Amino acid sequence: MRRICWLTLGTENGYPRSMEMQMGYEVFAELDERDHEQVVFCNDKESGLKAIIGIHNTTLGPALGGCRMYPYASEKDALIDVLRLSRGMTYKAGIAGLNLGGGKAVIIGDPKSDKSEMLWRAMGRFIAGLNGRYITAEDSGTTMADMEMMRMETNWVVGISRALGGSGDPSPVTALGVFSAMRAAVEKQLETSSFDGLTVALQGVGHVGYHLVGHLVDAGAKVVVADVDVDAVRKVIADYRVEAVAPEEIHAQECDIFAPCAMGGGLNEKTIPELKCTVVAGAANNQLREEKADGARLVERGILYTPDFVVNAGGLINVANELEGYNQERALNQARGVYDILKRVFQLSADEGIPTYEAANRLAMARIESLGRIRRTFTGAQAPAKVRWS
Ligand code: NAD
Repeated sequence: MRRICWLTLGTENGYPRSMEMQMGYEVFAELDERDHEQVVFCNDKESGLKAIIGIHNTTLGPALGGCRMYPYASEKDALIDVLRLSRGMTYKAGIAGLNLGGGKAVIIGDPKSDKSEMLWRAMGRFIAGLNGRYITAEDSGTTMADMEMMRMETNWVVGISRALGGSGDPSPVTALGVFSAMRAAVEKQLETSSFDGLTVALQGVGHVGYHLVGHLVDAGAKVVVADVDVDAVRKVIADYRVEAVAPEEIHAQECDIFAPCAMGGGLNEKTIPELKCTVVAGAANNQLREEKADGARLVERGILYTPDFVVNAGGLINVANELEGYNQERALNQARGVYDILKRVFQLSADEGIPTYEAANRLAMARIESLGRIRRTFTGAQAPAKVRWS
């Protein structure tokens, strides 16, 4: 039987009563569709906090994923976003070989105007109440300072500053992972292990893109960049003497590798036919606007797509290291492992004749399912509260 849940959030703080509130909205059907374990609605009137924590799968360990703050147009949009993102984290941790599950949190609000110490501490207390089932981190709309505010209420926060024993900026580790992914892709597609003479078109020279340019230039590649932020472009040109083109032209550059390191959804019906590369490998999340259709378009064009959640796993690897006492060398070494993981993805893709994104999903799920099976063995750590009920 399907249960109809009437959402009762969002009646204050100026958020409009949403359509689903008036019509009834099948929350449990949404959870069933994506196989979610738990969704937690967090409501604190005093601070105005309205947040949703999505825990998708904890077979491998506690669910870890960022906390996003965004002025969602409706509660349904916020719920769908947290469900989509938390599920993605299950696959990302699974394929990266981490003992972590998939989770994510979204706060409904404007990051420019709705932040306060109270809000973060209220959120921290909700996370504390989950007793380690969910570990939070920085995401779009949130900062390291916000994480540190939550940390006053709970230890289940990663991505805090080095000064507080955290891992700090993850982008150098993410960039090394992306570079390692490119090495695997170049070997597969271009049958060379050298970047000498290769051209890389890099979209977005922010945190990750900037470090990635450094690796590529050091390896002998010619790099063409674009960014909507002219200061970011100026800096990378001054430091690495790369060429720059207009942001709307970068994906259509004649190159060997196109590296999307800006926003998601950049690979779509319009841009894919215009690509002039043989490999796509970049840091951006959710690069394929429509996974199935755009993944197929890339296959049709003979372009090797390196699945984003494998390529950019360095960010997650970096914060996960914080749980064991942060050591950047160890995190960097693990990020280099993206090379081997991608080789396995390419192999499965070739063996089964399936797109690379599908091969990556299958490998992640296979690990989760097989480790789930070994966990059936009783170890003494998970004794039931009572062995009989009467
Ligand atoms: P960032 O915000 O520092 O950099 C993104 C850059 O892209 C900015 O300089 C921005 O001006 C530029 N940009 C935005 N729109 C653009 C456009 N249309 N054309 C060209 N440039 C554009 O972000 P980041 O931390 O470098 O992350 C880059 C991407 O990688 C994001 O999608 C992020 O989600 C993903 N990612 C980052 C990490 C990490 O460690 N920072 C980890 C995993 C995934």
